[in-house]
Amino acid sequence: MPERRTTTPQKAPHLSALDVALTQFDAAADKLRLDDRWRALLRVPQRELRVQFPVVMDDGSVRMYTGYRIQHNLARGPAKGGIRYHPDVTRDEVCALAMWMTWKCAVVNIPYGGAKGGVAVDPKKLSTRELERLTRRYASEISIIIGPEQDIPAPDVGTDAQVMAWIMDTYSMQKGHAVPGVVTGKPPSLGGSLGRTQATGQGVAIATREAMKRQKKPLTGAKVVVQGCGNVGSYAARFLDALGCKVVGVSDSTAGLFNPKGLDVGSVLQFKEANNSLADYRGSAETVTNAELLELPCDVLVPAAMENQLTAANARRVKAKLVVEGANGPTTPEAEAILEDGGALVVPDVLANAGGVLVSYFEWVQDLQFHFWTLDEVNRRLEETMTRACAEVSARSERDKTNFRTAAYLLAIERVAEAIRLRGIYP
Ligand code: NAD
Repeated sequence: MPERRTTTPQKAPHLSALDVALTQFDAAADKLRLDDRWRALLRVPQRELRVQFPVVMDDGSVRMYTGYRIQHNLARGPAKGGIRYHPDVTRDEVCALAMWMTWKCAVVNIPYGGAKGGVAVDPKKLSTRELERLTRRYASEISIIIGPEQDIPAPDVGTDAQVMAWIMDTYSMQKGHAVPGVVTGKPPSLGGSLGRTQATGQGVAIATREAMKRQKKPLTGAKVVVQGCGNVGSYAARFLDALGCKVVGVSDSTAGLFNPKGLDVGSVLQFKEANNSLADYRGSAETVTNAELLELPCDVLVPAAMENQLTAANARRVKAKLVVEGANGPTTPEAEAILEDGGALVVPDVLANAGGVLVSYFEWVQDLQFHFWTLDEVNRRLEETMTRACAEVSARSERDKTNFRTAAYLLAIERVAEAIRLRGIYP
């Protein structure tokens, strides 16, 4: 019988996501010798909206909530980015996530700027009706800056296709007609794209495959550990398993599971779906803490949960020689330097998890045309664009003798700066 231990999630991060985002930006801006004017412009968000709003709870009481929608840069097109429901949501976190969206959209070269939204709430503690009321009120509050031509939200941590459906309905009610293009990640019956739900995890698997090629290592049989078992982590595990990798570890906020011979991914994910938690999984696996999970012996580590999971405190103990960032901002700059000194390759979030925003873009294009694609069509375009972006980042890293993150930022900042330069500074 495998050993079982109690699981405690990682401690709260000491470095803010915004510190990390700005440090990463500055490193690339230095390398580009970016003019001070562009630097000052790109370090700050273009627009930020903070909303404080009441929600009637099921027992008749009224609770106040705080939410944000922040648009970092709009030079290349409408703003795009998810909405997060999590108790730790802050203005700075949303700002960092919005900035990362600007770079991500530019790395995969889609015509969007970056944005992000969030509400400080634990959605698991609300009933479905309370969640709907909160979502509709938040959507109504931010409706002054969102829209299919202005800013298009999507799911992120704590939100899903149903939340997007409520946002689409709220916005459509205000306009008096259906506006499917106001959000992506909707159910397909409301104009959502086939393949959107799994797109981020699928893209993570494509990025892993391409990075393994660059490392000249076989994908088949490669041992993979995935932190986080939500939308991104669960599909990343499923697609990597399908590509022939051996998924030896997975975790959620309640438990980590490890089996050096390989987990039965299908059975683990089925259990997670049925119980909404990995705790009490009775299949063939040892229980590990989230801290231990990150340090397990493996070839590939996919942090796909939250920010600041790989820090200076644990990076030296990470065994994986390939880290593929499914989550946004899981690796601090110090941790990245330590990992690279130890010979690891880090595929940055702005490339690794861009599959989600790519298929969101495909969804938006379909919504604007009221013409829908087959799953094969979506998958073909996802595969093509992710593979091309991976090749471009890899080539830039070789050309400029820099790591993948800075190479991705160089491509992205150049594209955004070019758009600003051509448009000029208004008036
Ligand atoms: P989700 O809410 O579906 O899942 C999050 C998962 O992380 C859950 O399994 C949760 O239990 C787990 N988790 C939370 N804290 C943890 C901890 N301390 N240790 C271990 N596990 C923990 O969210 P998601 O949509 O899968 O997003 C995960 C990450 O990927 C976030 O950083 C998000 O910004 C990023 N991302 C998501 C998308 C998308 O399309 N959903 C796209 C790009 C990037």
